[in-house]
Amino acid sequence: MTDLIFAATCDLAGKVRGKAFPADQLDKRLKRGVGWTPTNVQITCFDSIAESPFAALGDLLLVPDSGATVAADFGGSTERFMLGDIVTLDGAPWELCTRALLRSALERLQRVGGVSLLAAFEHEFQLTSGGSLLNEAYGRAGFEAQRGLCEALMAHLAQAGLSPDSIMKEYGPNQYEVVIGPEKGVRAADAAVMVRELTRATARHAGDRATYAPILDPASVGNGVHIHMSFLDAAGESATYDPDGVCGMSELTAAFSAGVLRYLDSILALTAPSVVSYLRLTPHRWSAAYNNLGFRDREASLRVCPVTAKDPASIARQFNIEYRAADAAACPHLALAAVVHAGCQGIEQGLRPPDPTEEDLSLLSAADLEARGFVRLPETLEAALARFEANDTVRGWFPDVFAPVYLAHKQAEIAHVAEMDAAARCAAYSQTY
Ligand code: GLU
Ligand code: MG
Repeated sequence: MTDLIFAATCDLAGKVRGKAFPADQLDKRLKRGVGWTPTNVQITCFDSIAESPFAALGDLLLVPDSGATVAADFGGSTERFMLGDIVTLDGAPWELCTRALLRSALERLQRVGGVSLLAAFEHEFQLTSGGSLLNEAYGRAGFEAQRGLCEALMAHLAQAGLSPDSIMKEYGPNQYEVVIGPEKGVRAADAAVMVRELTRATARHAGDRATYAPILDPASVGNGVHIHMSFLDAAGESATYDPDGVCGMSELTAAFSAGVLRYLDSILALTAPSVVSYLRLTPHRWSAAYNNLGFRDREASLRVCPVTAKDPASIARQFNIEYRAADAAACPHLALAAVVHAGCQGIEQGLRPPDPTEEDLSLLSAADLEARGFVRLPETLEAALARFEANDTVRGWFPDVFAPVYLAHKQAEIAHVAEMDAAARCAAYSQTY
């Protein structure tokens, strides 16, 4: 047997694709990578190929990063993969590499805010072949039914160098939630990819199947991805908290939050990028339906999280804001890049956040919503893409080639499910995520 390492990228479709090479060639591959094709970026989550400006032309390299290595031991077999960067043959970052897109957003944050980002992705998923576990929302029996899978998953996350935080039986049927500790910069998005891949692998080895599809049943709850963010200044101290700020936010956090909320309708197509994502983003599902700031409000798209620490230094370290309008159809790098750019825009423009909400916004009229600075978020992927396309500021955060490629990509995905009803769409997405 030859040990193989899978060099991987998480692409515009949020899929993890790449090529494997013999492990004893690692030194060479760390320098030269494996060959990659520009048009691969247009492979949708359903394996159709969207219109590509690159056609059959061009060559790229996918270079594995030794700092993003996973080796998960399944007792008898090991799954090895390394996330990497897509570069041109000259070694320059490729414009559509999702890690490069995130890196440039993080550099902007450093430039305009003088801070680096700490982020933790909180994930919900569902097991699909385990039989229906009824009446077990947050239940112990529901947890025990999958204790083996949960323990194996947490071990694999630790092996990958991540910090397992907690795991539980979530509210929905066969739904679980896994939480890891925060990571710095690009590593936070890498970690999200690792969580998803290791969950799927662990379930597969247990004879089950895990899906991160945004929603499995239009009448039930969705699988959210909640992105927790905090900021570190040059000295490595938390720059997120100010006891005298709005909901405890520092000036920087408040402006960042205001930017995210101001541009949320135009970045939604990047953070909730599937057709069925919009079945989840409806009121009363504890997801996100408005561009509101939540204080102790899980119906908010951006939530100021509670802090349990008591001393000022620990409070400052724990304090974070949570972006809830994301799901796992989104590449974590791309989703985080969009949120960070929106936050940077808020910092640059010196925006102030709206008042936090603690009420049911679905009861307000459109006029009342508008008067208070809130909008109902786009209700379809088409509408979200139209907002993205129409927003020059948002498109301008990305290289020129990004918007036309992304829009064509998503049109091909939409075409794939166009004739299906909502249930069939959920089923199709559950097969790919
Ligand atoms: N399932 C909800 C979502 O789609 C989140 C529930 C929770 O607050 O954990 O985002
Ligand atoms: Mg949850």
